[in-house]
Amino acid sequence: MTACIFCEIVGGKAACSAVYEDETCLVFMDIHPVNAGHLLVVPKVHATDLSDLPPETGGKMFQVAQKMTAALTNSGIRCEGVDLLMAHKSAAGQEVFHAHLHVIPRYQGDGFQFDASYDYKPSRDDLDQTAAKIKRSL
Ligand SMILES: [Zn+2]
Repeated sequence: MTACIFCEIVGGKAACSAVYEDETCLVFMDIHPVNAGHLLVVPKVHATDLSDLPPETGGKMFQVAQKMTAALTNSGIRCEGVDLLMAHKSAAGQEVFHAHLHVIPRYQGDGFQFDASYDYKPSRDDLDQTAAKIKRSL
């Protein structure tokens, strides 16, 4: 198995700027931040992505992200809103294959955006058919 940088950080073998830790998660500063205060919520146990992440761990990560949102809001760091983002697989932009939840402070005019063409304009029938495919897979 190739070395996982987030496992190394959790194990104290690589540096991070930690903000919070509990029995499930470690939170530290993203080294390629969108804005100042950009945090990563990382489970202590390795999970490659969402499909590999125990649901209870995912739930804890979300709870920690809520706590981090409150802390950012009260920190004095410019934070008028927050985006929570978890990329699942490389097609979605995942670059480190240890599941992690981004907590991204946002403010008016910060320039961060999801860049999409929005060319796909489904009809209600399209939406219903797509919903049916997903429901059959639950
Ligand atoms: Zn890992």
